[in-house]
Amino acid sequence: MKAVARIPRTGLPPPLASSFPLQKSYNPVFVHILLLSDIHSNLEALDACLAAAPAHDLVVNLGDTVGYGANPNEVIARAQALGRIFVRGNHDRAVTGLMDLDDFNPAAGLATLWTRDQLTPANLDWLRSLPQGPIHLDELPGIQFVHGSALDEDEYIVSAHDAIAPLIANPVPVTFFGHTHLQGGFMLQGKIDEAYRPVYRTVGQSESSDWPLRKDKDCRYLINPGSVGQPRDGDWRAAFAMFDSEAWIVTFYRVPYNLRLAQEKILVANLPRRLATRLATGR
Ligand code: ZN
Repeated sequence: MKAVARIPRTGLPPPLASSFPLQKSYNPVFVHILLLSDIHSNLEALDACLAAAPAHDLVVNLGDTVGYGANPNEVIARAQALGRIFVRGNHDRAVTGLMDLDDFNPAAGLATLWTRDQLTPANLDWLRSLPQGPIHLDELPGIQFVHGSALDEDEYIVSAHDAIAPLIANPVPVTFFGHTHLQGGFMLQGKIDEAYRPVYRTVGQSESSDWPLRKDKDCRYLINPGSVGQPRDGDWRAAFAMFDSEAWIVTFYRVPYNLRLAQEKILVANLPRRLATRLATGR
């Protein structure tokens, strides 16, 4: 584990008193969970992730299936075929009109209007019906799924400091989140709050990186699988994660994909040029 931030907590509520009954042994139905987030209509990136993903029992989609990229209908079809566990994202809401575009920058706003225009009525209805997080599954006690945070679906948890309030407020050991497009996570143990970023050896190969979690009732985690379709952590490769709910190991992945094709489609669609160029730098 590589800690990149260590922030002593002062003047904060007393140490965690988890109300979650941590069972020593149970028989989970879903052992290997594939976590996808922020696909953003990038079909090439999604296909590369699905090709690289190991066998899994469940797929969880943490939101923002659409927005920015050029293949919203195709990506929705893939996402629907993968399973039924979804959390809605802000772009999913904006495209359907459930949220106004005031908080969107011009490129995001234009992409939202373009996407709305492209989507079939059935896909617009489907996006509108996606549930707000947090999502809990009976089969996975102690785990929840959100887009931004469990306190606010639109919150950006970027730093260890941002993570403190949601980690303290929620008596849930593991929260998977998205929204920031930054792969990694945060751990709170007693008074120690740490940020975690997976370490990779290359910038262009398929790679994975394990983060073993502590099954300790004093530990809470916020974990972001990264963005499939528009990474912003300086790594252009598509990102996803697997969670082994028995061994409590998160495995982060980065996979190269057909970047040029995804960029070309954005340009051909007359979407803002920046949405194509940013994919190359992962910013
Ligand atoms: Zn997003």
